Amino acid sequence: MSGGTTASPDAARSAADPRAVAERLRATFASGRTKSLAWRRSQLTALRRMLGENRGALEDAVRADLGKPAAETLLMEIDLVMDEARFVRRRMAGWSARKPKPMHWLLQPAFAWTLDEPKGVALIISPWNYPVLLSLEPLADAIAAGNAVCLKPSELSPATSALIARLVADYLDPEAFAVVQGGPEETTALLEQPFDHIFYTGGGRVGRIVMEAAARHLTPVTLELGGKSPCFVDDTVDLNTAARRIAWGKFTNAGQTCVAPDYVLATPGVAEMLARRIAVAVTEFYGEDPRRSPDFARIVNDRHFQRVTGLMEGAGQLVCGGETDRAERYVAPTVFLGTPPDAPVMGEEIFGPILPVVIVRDVDEAIAFINARSHPLAAYVFSHSREVRRRFERDTSSGALGYGLPLGHLISSRLPFGGVGFSGMGAYHGREGFRVFSHTKTVVDKPLFPDTLRLVYPPFTKLRERL
Ligand code: NAD
Repeated sequence: MSGGTTASPDAARSAADPRAVAERLRATFASGRTKSLAWRRSQLTALRRMLGENRGALEDAVRADLGKPAAETLLMEIDLVMDEARFVRRRMAGWSARKPKPMHWLLQPAFAWTLDEPKGVALIISPWNYPVLLSLEPLADAIAAGNAVCLKPSELSPATSALIARLVADYLDPEAFAVVQGGPEETTALLEQPFDHIFYTGGGRVGRIVMEAAARHLTPVTLELGGKSPCFVDDTVDLNTAARRIAWGKFTNAGQTCVAPDYVLATPGVAEMLARRIAVAVTEFYGEDPRRSPDFARIVNDRHFQRVTGLMEGAGQLVCGGETDRAERYVAPTVFLGTPPDAPVMGEEIFGPILPVVIVRDVDEAIAFINARSHPLAAYVFSHSREVRRRFERDTSSGALGYGLPLGHLISSRLPFGGVGFSGMGAYHGREGFRVFSHTKTVVDKPLFPDTLRLVYPPFTKLRERL
């Protein structure tokens, strides 16, 4: 299965035909071969080998697409998929095993258990911002659950998408996996096919399109969406550390991270000092001129460059950054202080290296501010106050909540990762990922002898006596 599977011209043509792709994958699933634990193990091992042997090529492709530093691709993409594949490989036999369940007394003697079976053929649609992680981590979960998979990576990260297509064909079972490259047109054609699960990561606009298409086939969906993730800071914490953590979470991948702190809500006593210390952290991380730093990424394309730079208008007092370079699609790590809540930068998910600091009176105002908007994918809190933490847990709803640490929950196969409301539905990673791509089947077994069920047959004379 590994090494140099070269597709024939016919295979390449049919690979581009969504109906043919879906039919081929369905036939493979129907053959039963993806269900065996041995097959799943071999594919997860091959996936890890694929990443290990092509680390440099993947880092180069992601750099070509996003200007992302190699170390970031290794740390935040390749290694995380490696970890996930190992995590699920070790545990999937236990997860797949039958789980005995008690039966109602009326039916005794009887036995019951649940079985997790693969859903079938999954469609994974992924975005450009973490093009390796967000394609291959759900793929690992789908393999662990025993599915065949059609993967549609983003057209906005073309070098990585093309490389993933080649590597998947080379390393994984070519009958059980297909990578379809392309944009809206190809995705629309794929969505016309019946799949057994659709796993979509990206913006909410396309999320709705995906869900509508899925409804036509009654296909279950997981939607991993985005939104504006807030970060609350009060005067109980060490601002130097808070500033470094926030700067790291925000400016990683030039702010193009779904769970990046989108904006800061700071109390009046700390807002200005925090903004200045974030500016200091930016210099520590990226030097006096971040444009020259090998560790700072670029904006993905001209459309997003235009959009992100447009958000600086009326965003408050400029504390650092603000420089842009269209030719390089460079936007400096930028911090604004005292951002008006109705500024354009507060009107949409920023998805770029601009950090507005909005001043709020206290935790009550912060929570009211958050609750006046749609549920975010993540909320972050820098406060030692137990009361403040309790309030956030009880009075706000978000995909995840991080105390003192942005992005942290993303980096663990033991933690469910997903949104709520407008930030998404369903979660994955580890056990949750296995569940997404599985159907839990209930099985009951009642021996035919003795036929104690006679109790429940009509006429109910005997039953009436007992009840
Ligand atoms: P994108 O433009 O790459 O689109 C995502 C996918 O949808 C792509 O594969 C694309 O080809 C497809 N697509 C685009 N238009 C389509 C159409 N009209 N019909 C059908 N398919 C179409 O990515 P994006 O939407 O710019 O991604 C950024 C968003 O994704 C942000 O909101 C971000 O927060 C969110 N995001 C969420 C997560 C998460 O895990 N929850 C991770 C990364 C990004």
